[in-house]
Amino acid sequence: MSLQEYRRRRRFAVTPEPRGGKTRARTRACAFVVHKHRASQLHYDFRLEWKGVLLSWAVPKGPSLDPSVKRFAVQTEDHPIEYARFEGVIPEGEYGGGTVMVWDAGTWTPEVPDVDAALRKGELKCTLHGKKLRGSWVLVRTRARPGTRSDRPTWLLIKHRDAAASTEDIVTTAPRSVLSGRLLAEIAWQEGGNVEKAAGGDPAAEIEKLIANPKLVRRRRTRKPSVWHSNRAG
Ligand code: MN
Repeated sequence: MSLQEYRRRRRFAVTPEPRGGKTRARTRACAFVVHKHRASQLHYDFRLEWKGVLLSWAVPKGPSLDPSVKRFAVQTEDHPIEYARFEGVIPEGEYGGGTVMVWDAGTWTPEVPDVDAALRKGELKCTLHGKKLRGSWVLVRTRARPGTRSDRPTWLLIKHRDAAASTEDIVTTAPRSVLSGRLLAEIAWQEGGNVEKAAGGDPAAEIEKLIANPKLVRRRRTRKPSVWHSNRAG
């Protein structure tokens, strides 16, 4: 668990993302967050707090509540804990340039006695306590697909059968930030990002509603001009 690669990829004088560093051990429940990220490709970043960092997977199609659906997930570099509350715009041309939304957040609990052993084995069962994602899930490491980058392990994210399982297409039915209530386009518009590019990651019906009635545009709830929400409660 190290932030070396995370920091190597970023220029903190340019990007508003946190540098990280507060890696003290915690006694409270571990954080869980899913970012919706309109970078060169739209994807969802699934992150689990573990040992002072956020373990991270990029999920191109986002999570599915349907246990029969396996979502491809590429493991990416560990992120700082503070990233769990990052919502804003990474400047174009920077690593991951584009709009970032806190799509879901909460806590998680492992369903295995030894998380490190489960990660090594490539099968991590966990319970998510988010606003959108709940119940039992599993991450299963797979063999690298032919032609994919081999330096990043590939996994599948799968919902287990339980009361929280559903055929609801959650990424379409619940497209807004759990932190600010905003769509990607609203975040981009208010934080100086590429609104058109961001809007391409929102459901078309939501964008049409905003165009028909621009008064519906959601404002950021904080008074601080910063996109960094680390001092906000809740
Ligand atoms: Mn990302």
